[in-house]
Amino acid sequence: MNFLEERILKDGIVKEGNVLKVDSFLNHQMDINLYEQMGEEFARRFAGKNINKILTIEASGIGIACIVARHFGNVPVVFAKKAKSINVDGEMYTAEVMSFTHKNKNQVIVSKKFLSEEDHILIIDDFLANGCALQGLMQIIRQAGGTIEGIGIAIEKGFQPGGQLIRNLGIQLESLAIVESMDAATGNIVFREQK
Ligand code: 5GP
Repeated sequence: MNFLEERILKDGIVKEGNVLKVDSFLNHQMDINLYEQMGEEFARRFAGKNINKILTIEASGIGIACIVARHFGNVPVVFAKKAKSINVDGEMYTAEVMSFTHKNKNQVIVSKKFLSEEDHILIIDDFLANGCALQGLMQIIRQAGGTIEGIGIAIEKGFQPGGQLIRNLGIQLESLAIVESMDAATGNIVFREQK
């Protein structure tokens, strides 16, 4: 069992509706030492990749992405913003994202100034569930003409379809913990075996 799986078992709480609450260390209060370990592990898993930028989505991905960037030569971190209005000007790449946790649709935007066809991008996020957030980010990278070098996720819920969907596209997807099943009644969490 790796460091993140151990932490999830210690401090994670399984909620009804397939929600894993990890807000005491990952996406509300943030354990920076844990983020450091995550950064090290992503650097190991994406070793040899030519990455010059990290892309994430607000809000929970930002803190993780910033620490991960320290392990990739301090490359810039860009985060997609959730836009309130549909009136975005032509200076933005845009995509629609369905929110798993809030069950609403957000338009996400990135300024054209900060992504281009020269970029070799590592996408970072806290969770992968249905893959909507990642698909939005990939759509934005496609608009920019950039290259997706890989995707690094803290926690993938393997019983939801996002992971399979992304791997079928032939993209290197690395999830530090993959939850195979979880049970809100017992609090039991089972992880997928990883190499
Ligand atoms: P997806 O777009 O893959 O369906 O969901 C990814 C996003 O939903 C993540 O960025 C994360 O913020 C949120 N999310 C999905 N599942 C969970 C969960 O079980 N717990 C928490 N805390 N957030 C989740």
